[in-house]
Amino acid sequence: MEKRIYNFSAGPAVLPEDVLKEAQENLFTLPGVGMSILEISHRSKAFDKIIDEAKSDLRSLLNINNNYEILFLQGGASLQFSMVPLNLMPPKNKADYILTGSWSKKALKEAKRVGTVNVAASTEAETFNRIPDQSELKLDPDAAYVHFTSNNTIYGTEWQNEPEVGNVPLVCDASSDILSKKIDVNKYGLIYAGAQKNMGPSGVTLVIIRKDLVERSSDSLHTMLNYKIQVENASLYNTPNTFGIYIIGLVAKWLIKNGGLDAMHKTNKEKAALLYKCIDDSKGFYKGHAVPDSRSLMNVTFRLATEELEKKLILEATAAGFDGLKGHRSVGGLRASIYNAFPKKGVEELVKFMKEFQAKNS
Ligand SMILES: *Cc1c(COP(=O)(O)O)cnc(C)c1O
Repeated sequence: MEKRIYNFSAGPAVLPEDVLKEAQENLFTLPGVGMSILEISHRSKAFDKIIDEAKSDLRSLLNINNNYEILFLQGGASLQFSMVPLNLMPPKNKADYILTGSWSKKALKEAKRVGTVNVAASTEAETFNRIPDQSELKLDPDAAYVHFTSNNTIYGTEWQNEPEVGNVPLVCDASSDILSKKIDVNKYGLIYAGAQKNMGPSGVTLVIIRKDLVERSSDSLHTMLNYKIQVENASLYNTPNTFGIYIIGLVAKWLIKNGGLDAMHKTNKEKAALLYKCIDDSKGFYKGHAVPDSRSLMNVTFRLATEELEKKLILEATAAGFDGLKGHRSVGGLRASIYNAFPKKGVEELVKFMKEFQAKNS
């Protein structure tokens, strides 16, 4: 088999090698089934087992109690930008949004089509280089919900703790840090995450929703956009992304086998610390985008003195087997995405490469 390179892509992103191998091994025939996961009915016993196990393994990893429903939907995290306000905003028709990056802005744009949106805080004036303090939040105690983005994939900032929002349901886009650490799900009304960053392939979106919020969905909503109908049909109103759900299930089992989310968080902190130390020790050769107390463990963003130098680094890094380091087109610079499945050894090797690059170019 051809050698794998280091994949720093922001998403779709690196998956655990064990998961890829198991999927490959079982792709021709699922053990005991005699057919591939790509060929079986979503209404079959075999698939029931796959989806039920994926749900129960996610429940155990994140300590999700029976007061919450788990859905696997399609349309990406981006469709949740619409489904959240369509289902949860009425009858109050007002919600709070905390803006910490491009994805929060896109979520806000869709919410505005449904009702009145209060921007509870924004760090856009500082090019989204930090997470706002609790004291900066101008929350409406009567809002239908508060929406925030737990990890800002493009800018490389991450909430260290979720905002305190009192009794208003907290809604979180956790696309790029879901399963990277333990969170207290009981603090949330709804969590959604596209799978392709830290959990599986593209084309499937995890939604964790508190049961009382499911009751908000109006019968007048289009069927496919209605959480209540999706819950009543256990994500099988229509054909779901069966392969995507299968891979999420394998990733969940891989996480459990490797010590769960506390063990994962510990490794994630170690990996990120290596890169941030390299940036901080570089005497300004590398400039981190995020302010230190808002730094993301998942996406490490930084710049060099000139775009020319950045291009040179990306070119040489690609040649050396480090792929996907180019920053998002909207902010430029560099970004190393180091999700759960990214090996620590790859971070160590990137740091070594960055030090050598600095020595040669300063
Ligand atoms: C990637 C990403 C999205 C968009 O996800 P799609 O599945 O492509 O719609 C939304 N929010 C965050 C935080 C992301 O990282």
